[in-house]
Amino acid sequence: MSWRDTTCGALRADDSGRRVTLAGWVARRRDHGGLVFIDLRDHTGVVQLVLNPERAPEAAGAGHEVRNEFVLQAEGEVVRRAPEAVNPNLPTGEVELQVDTLRVVSTSEPLPFQVGEEGVDEVLRLRYRWLDLRSDRMQRNMRLSHTAVAAIRRTMDELGFVDVWTPSMTKGTPEGARDFLVPVRLQPGRFFALAQSPQLFKQLCMVGGIDRYYQIATCWRDEDLRADRQFEFRQLDFEMAFVEREDVLDVMERAVVASFEALEREPPSRPFPRLTYADVMRRYGSDKPDLRFGLEIQDATEVTRGSQFGVFANAPVVRYLVAPRAYSRAELGRLEEVAKEWGAKGLAYVVNDGGEIRSPIAKFLSEQELAAFHGEPGTTVLFAAADEATVTRVLGGLRTHLGRELELAAAGRNEFLWTLDFPLFEQHEESEGWTFVHHPFTAPIAGDAERIESDPPGVLGQHYDLIWNGWELGSGSIRIHRAEMQRAVFRTMGMGEDEQQAKFGFLLDALRMGAPPHGGFAMGLDRFLALMADEPDIRQVTAFPKVASGSDPLTGAPTPMPDAVLRELGIRSIADPGPT
Ligand code: ASP
Repeated sequence: MSWRDTTCGALRADDSGRRVTLAGWVARRRDHGGLVFIDLRDHTGVVQLVLNPERAPEAAGAGHEVRNEFVLQAEGEVVRRAPEAVNPNLPTGEVELQVDTLRVVSTSEPLPFQVGEEGVDEVLRLRYRWLDLRSDRMQRNMRLSHTAVAAIRRTMDELGFVDVWTPSMTKGTPEGARDFLVPVRLQPGRFFALAQSPQLFKQLCMVGGIDRYYQIATCWRDEDLRADRQFEFRQLDFEMAFVEREDVLDVMERAVVASFEALEREPPSRPFPRLTYADVMRRYGSDKPDLRFGLEIQDATEVTRGSQFGVFANAPVVRYLVAPRAYSRAELGRLEEVAKEWGAKGLAYVVNDGGEIRSPIAKFLSEQELAAFHGEPGTTVLFAAADEATVTRVLGGLRTHLGRELELAAAGRNEFLWTLDFPLFEQHEESEGWTFVHHPFTAPIAGDAERIESDPPGVLGQHYDLIWNGWELGSGSIRIHRAEMQRAVFRTMGMGEDEQQAKFGFLLDALRMGAPPHGGFAMGLDRFLALMADEPDIRQVTAFPKVASGSDPLTGAPTPMPDAVLRELGIRSIADPGPT
């Protein structure tokens, strides 16, 4: 016996007269007492079954008992619907199946929500994810993800990349998050860390002569969960030997374009724009600006040098944005709150309301200043006056806020951007020392290498980020391939010989045994897919995601473990796991 010989979504007017067998789920049932209509759904779509007591009394009898989400097998004849019964909204809407035999394959209990129902609480959707996965939305997202990933794999294969599997259980990999730890029964008291990325393994593949490595790699990072973050997520991870930055960017662009094409979308044109970190910070106040709208930061430091307005005169840097709206006082109060969240002390402004200037600081400004700032009618000039870093942060934050609030980004537009030449180091948050911006394996740009230890903040890294409509898709870099340079970076980060050896001895050994120049990239796949699917968060493109508290509503994980199990692992829990 075969369960089906065609699929629900496949039937068209041309099929009328055919005898077919279908299998699927009951999406809807309309019981007219005698006639029963059932919308039968499978992964390809929906088709209407007709159970007619005159034609098939047994099937019609069974049809009365059927409920939503029962699994049925139906055998019968495809017939054209009467013209007035045609459903133009359904691809199969010109036909229906006159059923001769109906088999109830599986029943379903009453449902916690209807498949595809709007507004269902997300935790409930995730608790019964198998139902949720049957919805059009999730079916589309899963299949769209598959199509994009398949195109990426094909591209990597065509470009000569070798899919090498690397371990999940490893030693801590410094990607800037906490590690998930795995206790080891055979060596109580010792732990593996789950890989935050395959970073060091892919570099070792290059030392190992693989030449071009790639993987759709699962990564684990113990971070707070957000719209674009899960504990475990996938990356398109790759690494190439004997390359320069442009070679790496080119591969990533090809993979992006291939997935657009596979999904029959207009691909972004290559090469994607490239801007330096210094440039984007200055112009947009962010290293991941949304370039679907302009709203660039303007400089006013020169014009305000001798200003009568003390805040301007005394600030090292004065910059502004021209918002395309004449804001009211109340709205400006709210914008000031936003600016304060980003570190501003206040928010000076000049509103041009149809030619009339409204500004509490106007009386302090010279003619020349006012002329520079009064903007076009229907605009508001918003200032930040402080040190460079604060001004950048405040105006960057305001720019993003305004972009969202005023819906400045044109719908349907896709703006990709490479941000290049990040600083190699930044000040450590908790200490006086230096830490890496990307990860400690990024090479400095040519010419800066000599200054790694003498001038850490002045060194630029060969680090690049890929941005799509203001979302950071991923990062990569040209790596350090000389042990001595790697050690200089470790030393700058305050790591002594012993610590270097204990944490990264294997890498330093490899770099001393014939390491080729190499570089690579990793793109967060789930983020990419969420954007492709036009979904607000990565949970919608993840089959079985966790919620913000870090739990999986479906299985109830994480769960406490019996003491005996912990003991075997050499662990004693001091936490109260709470109710289960
Ligand atoms: N390992 C890096 C990351 O996960 C990517 C890279 O440098 O290739 O962000």
